Parts: sequence; structure tokens; C-alpha cells
Amino acid sequence: MSDCLFCKIVAGEIPSKKLYEDDLCYAFYDIAPQAPTHFLVVPKAHISSVAGVDETNQATAGHIFAIIAKLCKELRLDSYRVVSNIGEQAGQSVPHLHFHVLGGRDLTWPPG
Ligand code: 5GP
Ligand code: ZN
Repeated sequence: MSDCLFCKIVAGEIPSKKLYEDDLCYAFYDIAPQAPTHFLVVPKAHISSVAGVDETNQATAGHIFAIIAKLCKELRLDSYRVVSNIGEQAGQSVPHLHFHVLGGRDLTWPPG
């Protein structure tokens, strides 16, 4: 999508601190970290949010979870939180599917 911030980051049109990439996904550090470790994993193809996951792209969504597990092992994070906000009321500010991965501090529950 031409006017999407995360599509532009995936395309390298906006710089980011890359952690990982492959054919299906891209992982990069959040610009405003909310924990000592805070990165985002996004599909390279535009999907609006978890609400846009369907039978045509579910393999990509599943792949992203495998990559999150792999990256956290490599970063030696053994306790962390994976969050995806869907829609304005839940706090989604970028309408391109992304999973926040947060770790390195105590995380409270319930979330705000
Ligand atoms: P959301 O609010 O949609 O759940 O998450 C969007 C996240 O993207 C926020 O945590 C925000 O800090 C991050 N973000 C917004 N713009 C940029 C950017 O240009 N670069 C990076 N690395 N992160 C961004
Ligand atoms: Zn996009």
C-alpha cells in the first residue's frame, strides 16, 4: 500500500533498525520502546490487522509467530509479551498488521 508507514519501512523508504527479515516478514525495533526490548514484526505484504488475517494469508501470520519465538531465543528473552492492537479503541495507530514483542522488565496485567 503506497501510503502505509510500515509498507514504506519494509520497502526501505523509511529507515528502521532492522532485527530480521525474510521473504514473508520484517522485524525492527520500535521507535518509542516501552520496555528494554521492544521490537515489531510485520508481514511484508500489507494486511490491515489481525482482523485482516484469513485463509489467504494465515500461513504468513503463523510464520511470524515462529520467527518471534526464534528471535526471542536468539535474544535470550525467556519471558516476554506479544501484543497486537486491532482498531482505534485498542490503540492501533498504524493500520498494517504488527506484533509488538516486549521484554526485559516486569509486565503488569491487565494491560491499560
Ligand atoms: P500500534 O500503536 O499501532 O499498536 O503500534 C505502532 C507502533 O509503531 C508504536 O509502538 C510506535 O512507536 C511504532 N512506530 C511508529 N512510527 C514508527 C517509525 O517510524 N519507526 C519505528 N521503528 N516504529 C514506529
Ligand atoms: Zn502496509
